[in-house]
Amino acid sequence: MKTGLATSEFFLKHETGSSHPECKERLSSILEKINVQSYFKELNLIEPRVATREEISLNHNKSYITEFEKKVNSGSGYFDMDTPYSKDSFLAASKAVGAGLDIADKILTSELKNGLALVRPPGHHAVKEHAMGFCMFNNIAITAKYLQQNGVKKILIYDFDVHHGNGTEESFYDEENIFFISTHQFPFYPGTGKSTDIGGGPGKGFTKNIPLASSTNDTKFIETIKEEIIPIIDNFQPEFILLSSGFDAHKLDPLGGLEISTKGFEKITEILKNKAEEICKGRMISFLEGGYHLEALAESVETHLSVLKG
Ligand SMILES: [Zn+2]
Repeated sequence: MKTGLATSEFFLKHETGSSHPECKERLSSILEKINVQSYFKELNLIEPRVATREEISLNHNKSYITEFEKKVNSGSGYFDMDTPYSKDSFLAASKAVGAGLDIADKILTSELKNGLALVRPPGHHAVKEHAMGFCMFNNIAITAKYLQQNGVKKILIYDFDVHHGNGTEESFYDEENIFFISTHQFPFYPGTGKSTDIGGGPGKGFTKNIPLASSTNDTKFIETIKEEIIPIIDNFQPEFILLSSGFDAHKLDPLGGLEISTKGFEKITEILKNKAEEICKGRMISFLEGGYHLEALAESVETHLSVLKG
């Protein structure tokens, strides 16, 4: 079975301004890098659908969705200091959601084994009621809820972006069937992700935050995955694994302070892919989140994708 790659030139139309780290060049440099790979033609390429408001409202308040659409109709602006939008941002964000949903559909019908939603804007900081931290709609959270709607009961989300996935955590904090794990630099933006935050109500014990000191390197990071995350996956036995893949934990990244190498991301992907094959028939969807050093990002995504393809 194949690996899906859901991406679109339309994501380049989400304009954030030339000095913003979450710029369109991020995606174009990745596309340039992977286009020349010989395996590129073996991937199942997907031009993502535009997710409907109903699908987006699986995770977001209708009032926020309406407000977002209204905002872009009157031009460009800012949700907050970090999060600019432009006239095509609503459609780009809706397609970014659609990328995850399209891969999910194809995995559910066994057309694909796994896939990468190569999207922007990213999603893991977006909370139910508003955009934040470069993120508009929470792509991974919406896909998890969509999978649940389609009969998948247990889903494990692992977020290895250098920043804590506060939006995703919020979506599933009280949920016992979706296990949310995050490794992230701490203390760091957005300030959440303490190890004592473990979920609430029926979801208590189904959130695992692993804060990491700045300068954490490959050895320590991989050890953390093997010793803390793999046992959780073994114990939880998910039917699907979703990854918030942020490559801003790379040692060259201008925003993050962790020291992961491109080789390190390769190893991380291998460990998780092998675990997915063992536990849940390889069913795994990866979502591009951060990563702001253009060359390191392109290389890391290329490596990540080549491992997923296997
Ligand atoms: Zn990040």
